Amino acid sequence: MLNRRELIRRLSTFPLVGGVFAATPLAAVAAGTPKREAPKRDLYKELGIRTFINAAGTLTYMTGSLMHDEVLDTITSSAKDFCLLDEVQDKVGERIAKLAHSEAAVVTSGAFAGMTLGLAGILTGMDEKKVAELPHLEYTGMKSEVICQKSHDIVYNHALTNTGCKIIRVETAEDVAKAVNERTALMHFLHIEADKGKIMHEEWVALGKKFGIPTSIDIAADVPPVSNLWRFNDMGFHFVVISGGKAMRGPQSAGILMGKKEVIAAARLHMPPRGANIGRGMKVNKEEILGMYVAVEKYVNADHDKEWKEWEASIAHIQNAVKVLPGVTTEVHVPPLGNHTPTLRITWDKDKVKTSDKDLKDVLRNGSPSIEVGGGGENSINVTVFMLKPGQEKIVATRLKEVLTKASV
Ligand SMILES: *Cc1c(COP(=O)(O)O)cnc(C)c1O
Repeated sequence: MLNRRELIRRLSTFPLVGGVFAATPLAAVAAGTPKREAPKRDLYKELGIRTFINAAGTLTYMTGSLMHDEVLDTITSSAKDFCLLDEVQDKVGERIAKLAHSEAAVVTSGAFAGMTLGLAGILTGMDEKKVAELPHLEYTGMKSEVICQKSHDIVYNHALTNTGCKIIRVETAEDVAKAVNERTALMHFLHIEADKGKIMHEEWVALGKKFGIPTSIDIAADVPPVSNLWRFNDMGFHFVVISGGKAMRGPQSAGILMGKKEVIAAARLHMPPRGANIGRGMKVNKEEILGMYVAVEKYVNADHDKEWKEWEASIAHIQNAVKVLPGVTTEVHVPPLGNHTPTLRITWDKDKVKTSDKDLKDVLRNGSPSIEVGGGGENSINVTVFMLKPGQEKIVATRLKEVLTKASV
């Protein structure tokens, strides 16, 4: 079927006859000539910004994911009316909470902001004086420490220290018992590092309960599986944060903070439209709040088995194209934590294929169309397909085969 733009383009080049005439807008007919639509601006072209096929994954520096059409439609249509920011958050929060089995939820400007705001809420409760005092904790009566397993203490914990708190690293349950004191505000868990720590989710929550300390978890990049959306709420974490612009394909500058009613209510005191708080700069506009809701709803209702099979088929297509090349080996794996999706590792024998991963990536990047793949090691790369548009797996397969063949001796 012709889309509107194509139709108008044809109308402007062909004489007005029969059926084509019938499809012409009335106003244009009255004016005697079909109306020309102004050509759409292509800002990527205009500003010389490289676009590419993303066979790497949902990476922040590659702008995360592409929003679903439904999300984009929501953003455009909701932009045409005013409403109260808090009312959008109330209504959307209720719906998302229901979908994610949490008591309450709020759309934040990403998972990182969700961590800051969730902890801020725990530190201040509904005390507005304390809200204004953050990030200064001394002599305020607020707690100031967050317990975290050593292997979980990575860059994203800066979101927690933004509140003025410091991180206390532990390794064992005994360490937790020793670390807990009257200053302990929170026990934080990082799902992607779960296998690197000694304490797993349930035990973490149980330890929190035992010592009367709230628990939180960062699952920013941890759907699929979709069940992770509610799994940690069901488990009893006080708050859970997830990114909106990774696999859920909502806005990249949105995410969800969900959990206990009192935590979310207090977190919202730190959020716009209120000022004099540490969260005033973490604003989310109504369009993205609504877009986030539509993305979650769509994600929960999606046919995940079907989608998984499509990913496997695309991975197999690429694998079949390159596995026959001399010196090239392939392997499909699914990372158990974070970006849990079929991933193709392509490795080559450096005596038979004379290229490094860096050079190979450069060639793919500088080709036409430009393609980004994931790093593997000196002589390997990783390819994912969950960020590909339909049909792009064929382009990726062809290019990989070409480039690997060219480097073969
Ligand atoms: C991406 C990511 C974040 C940050 O999420 P944003 O939604 O970009 O704020 C935090 N933690 C982990 C583990 C992530 O992968």
